[in-house]
Amino acid sequence: MKLIINIKPFSFDLTRKLITSKGIIHKKIGLLLQIKDSNGNYGWGEVSPIEKKELEKSIESLDFIGKQTTKDSIENYLFELPGALAFGLGSCLADLESLTHRKLNLEGFDDAKSAYLLPTDIDPLESIRKYVDESNEKKSSCTIKWKVSHLENNFKEEKTLQKILDILPNNFKLRIDPNGGWSRQKAQEWINELKNEPRLEWIEQPLPSKDIEGLFSLATQIPIALDESLVEFPYLRKTWKSWQIRRPALDGDPRLLLKEIEQEDSQTVISTAFETGIGRRWVNHLAARQVKGGNPRAPGLAPGWCPKGPLFNNNPKLVWEAV
Ligand SMILES: [Mg+2]
Repeated sequence: MKLIINIKPFSFDLTRKLITSKGIIHKKIGLLLQIKDSNGNYGWGEVSPIEKKELEKSIESLDFIGKQTTKDSIENYLFELPGALAFGLGSCLADLESLTHRKLNLEGFDDAKSAYLLPTDIDPLESIRKYVDESNEKKSSCTIKWKVSHLENNFKEEKTLQKILDILPNNFKLRIDPNGGWSRQKAQEWINELKNEPRLEWIEQPLPSKDIEGLFSLATQIPIALDESLVEFPYLRKTWKSWQIRRPALDGDPRLLLKEIEQEDSQTVISTAFETGIGRRWVNHLAARQVKGGNPRAPGLAPGWCPKGPLFNNNPKLVWEAV
């Protein structure tokens, strides 16, 4: 089957800046993909990496593939491509397959059931109090995610942890994400504080992505979820037998991630890398499938962090026309 690839760049600002131990994210830039087959059918995809280098690599790979190509050629390349590009192309092929072979109904997902990502630029305690009050009324998720290890407020995070635990209701869960920013010693200090804390769901990527030995060792003491390590060392997706934070937009062909999620013993949790409506279709679908599986956990969809507007519509054609 012959295919034509069309590409449009997009960018948008987040509604508030996200401060992590790795830096500040306030803007997303990427590419929208539209693939047309010889019967006039369309497939839609998004290339939306966090790292600038990955976007550059994706553009180089798209230049190499060329505007005119075939389905077989893309399928053969997918494994070698940057994860963000493989996600975009895989999602286009899934649309075309859905029209011609087996219908794939991409499910939606209610944002209110996502974990709540605490704002990183204001006092977390105030946000938690407000969220707890609201979620009782709205019946939204009882999972809170706290990104720690920001350079500018590092000195008071341990004290803040105690205050959070003082006010967090028993039916709430807490996820702590230092984005690889802790040393082994610092991780051990936090683990000592949290070891017997039933409200802690997991600590996400406590150590730098390369310290795999350290991560395996911490996981014998407390639930540890991997995130950045899985992007840098994809083989860990097979060998890490605890929680895995998977960001579909960075992960590669979404058809493969779907198969993984549907395995009964999967401990895979879906998380956003801040997408437009085109990428979000798959993020929502995977999140919806995850919570219907054997180990349901609130996905991390960062509700409210992307602005509103046509770029976030769930009809891909309207997103394409909006840029
Ligand atoms: Mg993370």
